[in-house]
Amino acid sequence: MRKDRFSVLWLQAGSCGGCTMSLIEHGRRGLFAELDAFGIELVWHPSLSEETGEEARAILEAVEAGERRLDALVVEGSVLMGPAGTGRCQILAGTGRTMADWVTSLARRAGVVVAVGSCAAYGGIPRAEPDPAEATGLQFDGADRGGALGAGFRAKGGLPVVAVAGCAPHPGWIVETLAALAAGVLSAEDLDGAGRPKFFADHLAHHGCSRNEFYEFKASAERASDRGCLMEHLGCKATQAVGDCNQRAWNGSGSCTDGGYACIGCTSPGFETARGFLVTPKIAGIPVGLPLDMPKAWFMALAALSKSATPRRVRLNAISDHVVVPPGRGRRGSEGGEG
Ligand code: SF4
Ligand code: SF4
Repeated sequence: MRKDRFSVLWLQAGSCGGCTMSLIEHGRRGLFAELDAFGIELVWHPSLSEETGEEARAILEAVEAGERRLDALVVEGSVLMGPAGTGRCQILAGTGRTMADWVTSLARRAGVVVAVGSCAAYGGIPRAEPDPAEATGLQFDGADRGGALGAGFRAKGGLPVVAVAGCAPHPGWIVETLAALAAGVLSAEDLDGAGRPKFFADHLAHHGCSRNEFYEFKASAERASDRGCLMEHLGCKATQAVGDCNQRAWNGSGSCTDGGYACIGCTSPGFETARGFLVTPKIAGIPVGLPLDMPKAWFMALAALSKSATPRRVRLNAISDHVVVPPGRGRRGSEGGEG
């Protein structure tokens, strides 16, 4: 474990601030105690630090001049390159310089650069058509390598941009990434092809969903309030989206699908341009996007088989907003009926 503290500077580029809102929920002890426990020093954060105006600018200038060591530059929000590539859609107040310019300059000084959220990672929602601000990610523009820093960028420590994707990302993904970097245990092999740490990206958001029983029997919700699986009709992309979203609770409990909201694949590059938010695109009645974790032919065969064997309890509960047939009383209300 390093003796000196791991210094983190946080910038908000083209951002709604949602990633910071997510971050501050982190941990029973509270965010600052958690960061302290991992030896992380928050040098400056636009919403959480006391310094504003001249004092804040002085911190940035000291880092840029190499007078103050920077272990990690964290960027939240897309880098806005518009209009016409000038970056002047976002000026850092009091400096006359674009945020794109500050990000590029400070990235050269940092031991590692971390994109927090899918906007900073890939462009995110600001990049959706018509994209007047010419939004891009730090090292990806949607699914294409490039972005504000360029495909070949490597921070001083040797890593490409570490992409804590999500809109917003789980607070645990952010803090655990920073903790792993502070401990020196996050290497290039620990990132997937889109720069995401594998500790959360090696899962699908579907894994652990409370609606998994309905999924297995292809017993599907028809309205947003129904208890059934949201994939067939209501656009759930969790079988194609990475993240352990349904294995660790958000805000102490729940997840998107637990709350009745279909997964929109927010951890995926280019999710903002994908077809079918909250409605499932189909061809000949078959969903276009099929699960990543099994071959298409298997899925089709299993779906047909399981639909033909759906228990009455599961079929009826799937299209209700509460349990209408409890387990063990499936047949005309008698105990010990179909499960
Ligand atoms: S609602 Fe989505 S995450 Fe839940 S079981 Fe269905 S496909 Fe999987
Ligand atoms: S369930 Fe889907 S939309 Fe929700 S946080 Fe996870 S990846 Fe994003």
